[in-house]
Amino acid sequence: MDTLQGRGIVAGVAIGKIMFPVKAWDAYLAQYQQGTVAEETQKYHAAHRQAVQGIADAVVKAKATGSTETATILEAHQSIITDPVLEESILGRINSRASAPLAVRAACEEIAVMFLGLKDPYLRERAADIRDIGSKMASLLLAVPALEFPDEATILCAAEIAPSVVANLPEDKVVGLILGQGSETTHAIIMAKARGLVTIVGLVEGQLDKLTEGTAVILDGIKGEIIVEPTPAEVAHYQALVHERQVLAAENAKTASWPAKTTNGKRIIVAANIGNPLEIEAAVRHGCEGVGLLRTEFIFMGRDSLPSEQEQYEAYAYVVKRCQEHLCVIRTLDIGGDKPLPYLDIPKEENPYLGLRAIRISLQRPDLFLTQVRAILRASAHGNVALMLPMIINQSEILAAKGLINRAKSELLDEGVAVSTYVPVGIMVETPAAAVMAPTLAEECDFFSIGTNDLTQYTLAVDRGNQAVSYLYDHFNPAVLRFIEMTIKAAHARGIWVGLCGEMAGDLQATKLLASMGLDELSMSATAIPMVKEAIRNSDGDEGLARRILRMATAEEVRAILAK
Ligand code: PEP
Ligand code: MG
Repeated sequence: MDTLQGRGIVAGVAIGKIMFPVKAWDAYLAQYQQGTVAEETQKYHAAHRQAVQGIADAVVKAKATGSTETATILEAHQSIITDPVLEESILGRINSRASAPLAVRAACEEIAVMFLGLKDPYLRERAADIRDIGSKMASLLLAVPALEFPDEATILCAAEIAPSVVANLPEDKVVGLILGQGSETTHAIIMAKARGLVTIVGLVEGQLDKLTEGTAVILDGIKGEIIVEPTPAEVAHYQALVHERQVLAAENAKTASWPAKTTNGKRIIVAANIGNPLEIEAAVRHGCEGVGLLRTEFIFMGRDSLPSEQEQYEAYAYVVKRCQEHLCVIRTLDIGGDKPLPYLDIPKEENPYLGLRAIRISLQRPDLFLTQVRAILRASAHGNVALMLPMIINQSEILAAKGLINRAKSELLDEGVAVSTYVPVGIMVETPAAAVMAPTLAEECDFFSIGTNDLTQYTLAVDRGNQAVSYLYDHFNPAVLRFIEMTIKAAHARGIWVGLCGEMAGDLQATKLLASMGLDELSMSATAIPMVKEAIRNSDGDEGLARRILRMATAEEVRAILAK
């Protein structure tokens, strides 16, 4: 028995047997019958057509089942596979007498290596997508059979995994993932999260070698532990935990649509974070009370030009209508940092998280901002909309943005376009500057929403995507908690509501504390909603807990109190 330590990215417990999704390419290549240049070209075109069709079918399937993250990623694959530069490189190799499968793999590898050499971690991670496309076409050319999963619970294990492999995993058989590499921004992990697959990453070199095909393991996604060859007692213990979670989820589902109030009577709105308009469907199913954060940048990603005002309007209006009487908080473009938008041609930055990001781009490119604001204001006619500005550090940014919002509003009214009479404007409090200046910023805001993902990284000077310093990234760090407290106090002193929409909102360990700090709203991914609502109902909302915790010196002490 051995325990390996990694980093749990998707929490939960999974029990199963290891399977390596690696294919023995060489065996297939050795059997491949290479034809003339014309024949290889023809075989390539046939495989390409089939792969393009396969991706298009997968996009339709993902959209029909509400797997919107998967659909977005597959759409990005569509643009890679139809890229003329890639095709030119493949055909050039075939003309130089390479076999079609080798030409495909070499061309994709060349581009992948180029991406791996880039500084931007987001772009580096795209190398896996390109390799994935290469493998897909080469598999078709070599007639490699699809992965076959045994009937027992399976845990996939690999140094890295292709997003298309995650997208096609049978949900009834694969229960977990172990990856050597990967951070929260890799597409494969975004999809694993969306599917609720328990995932552990970041094993140090040599640790993966301890795992062989068929090894029995338990993944503890909360502690980031992999228990290799567990004893019967350990299996029984973890099986009981899995069962407990299932019972709890079924229990919580029954009360998902009910409002959440602490035992001392404080009502807390529980809303959803969504990145793609279709995600509102799952959010409504999980009992959301509106949307607390619509990350509009995802509507701008996975394409090669800006969405028009009409396209944006349709996307926003769809969500607003599905929110019915509840509020839909639409955040303006938060591009930059780990979310670049290549077609905007923003010069490469040494430090993108501290660079041209979010509101800074919107104010430097009023054309972009005005188009987006017009679309949001038009959508406001269909329900209850609020506009939220990301990455604010100064009151002047709010004033400048509001000036543009008012201009867009009067233009629309002059054009006779329907706009809601009241569209509140608020900000994300996600920089230390915003938290410190909250009393001043509140003068110009109708609400605050605390973005703990960025507030944690900027407060602690810890890159939220960097595994090497992830042990320091903790929203329970008292420095972060004090900023949260300052923000809530400033909002309430001014009489405006304050929510929290970072990952902390969906962290069940934090609920009691957040309720006692006096937050009015928590916004999170759809699957967390029922459990957080239940946790609010079990919280007493007593301010004493917050007071006590705010005196703590370390995150460990905070966690220890909350665990009691
Ligand atoms: C945050 O920073 O907490 C947040 C919700 O915004 P994002 O994760 O999109 O940066
Ligand atoms: Mg943020």
